[in-house]
Amino acid sequence: MQLLKYLQAQGLGSRKQCQWLIEHNCVAINGQLHKQVKAEIDLTAVATLHIDGEPVVAVPLPYFYILLHKPVDYETSHKPKSYPSVFSLFPDHMRNIAMQAIGRLDADTTGVLLITNDGQFNHRMTSPKHKVAKLYQVGLKHAADADLCTQLCNGVLLHDDNETVHAAAAELADHHTLLLTITEGKYHQVKRMVAAAGNRVESLHRLRFGTWECADLAPGQWHFIQPDHTTATP
Ligand code: URA
Repeated sequence: MQLLKYLQAQGLGSRKQCQWLIEHNCVAINGQLHKQVKAEIDLTAVATLHIDGEPVVAVPLPYFYILLHKPVDYETSHKPKSYPSVFSLFPDHMRNIAMQAIGRLDADTTGVLLITNDGQFNHRMTSPKHKVAKLYQVGLKHAADADLCTQLCNGVLLHDDNETVHAAAAELADHHTLLLTITEGKYHQVKRMVAAAGNRVESLHRLRFGTWECADLAPGQWHFIQPDHTTATP
């Protein structure tokens, strides 16, 4: 990819702004200054990017995949209404790059949120047909017993929905903590399933999406991941 296009794809400015950066010796890739707008950049070999001596996150191109530990009180939206957007957690230049969350988490839900610019991958991960498992840790308002898990696994009818949804797995870690696995991504699905089974969600944390977990990422932290295409293949 030509350097000028590369910088634009990184969200670093308009064509004119990126041209200015290159012509004023501001762009270094892997420690080497680049002065030619038409210099050919090997996308697979970019390790570091500096603009004006400052390190800048080099987003893998053409496709990138991000694992974010979503903190509480952030909205999974480019146009948030009540809380800041999860996209505000990324460096400025990345906010100029088109990217989408793979499914939404509610503002009060924390945990694994995947983000990408790969529409096909996004579709495969979210399509119910592909049955990608999502594991949630659910804080329950009322003390529960095994009956709750049985109900959820046998299927519950969601309010305002004609379909019965089943948990792929459900177990209690203690009387107020449910570990629930689902393979669809309906609107407020976990909260609605738990309500349909006669309880109430007090806290919700996504522990795993496919094979991805937050591991040692603190809330608000993120890193690039390699897509595990097998996770989303039928
Ligand atoms: N189900 C919910 O109810 N909320 C979420 O954020 C995710 C799943």
